[in-house]
Amino acid sequence: MKTVHNEILKNNRSFHKFRLPLREIIYFIEMTETKKNVITVDYKLFKDTKDGKMIESTEGKEPLVFMSGVGQMIPDFEKNVADLNVGDTFSFPVKAENAYGVRNEEAIIELPKDMFMQDGKLVAEVVVGNILPLQDQSGNVHPAKVVSINDETITMDVNHPLAGQDLYFTGTVVEKREATAEELEHGHAHGAGGHQH
Ligand SMILES: [Zn+2]
Repeated sequence: MKTVHNEILKNNRSFHKFRLPLREIIYFIEMTETKKNVITVDYKLFKDTKDGKMIESTEGKEPLVFMSGVGQMIPDFEKNVADLNVGDTFSFPVKAENAYGVRNEEAIIELPKDMFMQDGKLVAEVVVGNILPLQDQSGNVHPAKVVSINDETITMDVNHPLAGQDLYFTGTVVEKREATAEELEHGHAHGAGGHQH
């Protein structure tokens, strides 16, 4: 049963959208219930392979705290880290399509130049190659790269900066505990590194 289910997980990342036999669904619920831990990790993130350029690191900073089993992390990250114990190390690749997705050419958009003007002048940060925060109608901020400055418009690339990028993670589990009832209810970790409220 477990093997069968793991195969389903491995082959269908969006497996929950498929209609599974009832006993599989029950098994899945039980499995996720037991997997909700609050896990603290130190990690490094590289481009392509572990010899690639380092993109992020918690070295000298606060470690990363996340709750497993709630879809907070990239599924491949969770798959490789959630079952480890304190002191265990990890080292694994994640393909672009399983990380921040492939690049989408439709995410290259032209916006009116007015949006980037202040006091009749182009804002100083609008330079080709710069990443600027763009806010959508719902108030969410997306990092967007300036592609070109045109007569009437600015061409922006709103693909995630890591879209199309294969990734490689290494790191260590520094803390692991069961999520509290309150954390389970909220769906996120509390305390140091988590939500403070
Ligand atoms: Zn909370």
